[in-house]
Amino acid sequence: MTLLLLGPPQRARAWHPIFDAAGEDIVVGEDAVRDPSKITHLACWQPPADLGRYPNLKAVISTGAGVDQMPVLPPGVALVRSLAPGIDTLVRDWVLMATLMLHRDMPRYLEQATRGEWRGHPPHPASTARVGIMGLGRIGRAAATSLSSLGFDVAGWRRSGQPVEGVNVYGQADLSDFLARTDLLVCLLPLTDETRGVLGSDLFAGLPDGAALIHAGRGAQLDIEAMRSALDAGRLQAAMLDVTDPEPLPQDHWAWADPRVIVTPHTAAQTDATEGAHHALAVIRATRDGTALPGHVDQRHGY
Ligand code: NAP
Repeated sequence: MTLLLLGPPQRARAWHPIFDAAGEDIVVGEDAVRDPSKITHLACWQPPADLGRYPNLKAVISTGAGVDQMPVLPPGVALVRSLAPGIDTLVRDWVLMATLMLHRDMPRYLEQATRGEWRGHPPHPASTARVGIMGLGRIGRAAATSLSSLGFDVAGWRRSGQPVEGVNVYGQADLSDFLARTDLLVCLLPLTDETRGVLGSDLFAGLPDGAALIHAGRGAQLDIEAMRSALDAGRLQAAMLDVTDPEPLPQDHWAWADPRVIVTPHTAAQTDATEGAHHALAVIRATRDGTALPGHVDQRHGY
């Protein structure tokens, strides 16, 4: 089996020695492919348009956690997303930071600081804030566990409604009940046909007044103008966004200048190259053994 890696040179520099040590074949860049029939795995952010060039391709491995940038793959080619564990902990940490910042009025203090204004607002214990996490996958569950341990009252919403220990789980049909009990809304959903635009006016209308939004899913899930209306109406009091549509967010976009909104430039996580290489090796071994591919994506659901 041979893996073709497409991506930045620093990733190739990290993957090569790991593949060599494991005794697995790796080729970097399409120009280096001598015999396309030997390529069984492709690791990339986006595959080349003509995958027909690789007749024995078995799996395409996304080098990131999301797969919304991937096209529908030819029959018989599995889609796999990176399971580098550092992604989960980095995004979890960004969510913890954002939740604490919004819970402890940081947007107001940052705005006051521009005027040198020394004015405190009453602090509230974490136990008085109801966090609602949309998406209880690998990252959502990690965030839920950590936020619960800080004392927040945590619930989650997921498609399957499958229970998670210590978390009050709402199924897909119970979105309105979930929103009605949520003061700090966290979005950790994958971008799919079902979740595109999900953070829109209907959803904001279902939140209690003065709620806050923490968004680390994908930019196209958020209708940012609906968010602005919800901020103006007091439905939302603040938002922290790591993802926007488009990315980069244009320099003159209103959200940069609005003191109620804090934007970070899609930096919650990056795949660690070493972890990514080890995950790709695990995919190759599973292919050889005929076992379940780690990170296998159900293309019918899009995640
Ligand atoms: P995951 O393990 O695949 O979990 C996805 C979760 O979303 C699951 O709980 C799933 O429900 C739920 N879900 C999917 N579609 C749904 C729908 N239509 N309605 C309700 N729930 C739905 O994904 P993950 O690893 O936690 O990552 C989540 C997302 O975070 C990624 O897809 C990516 O977009 C984003 N992300 C962002 C960054 C960043 O730097 N900002 C980094 C990494 C990832 P079930 O469990 O019931 O199936």
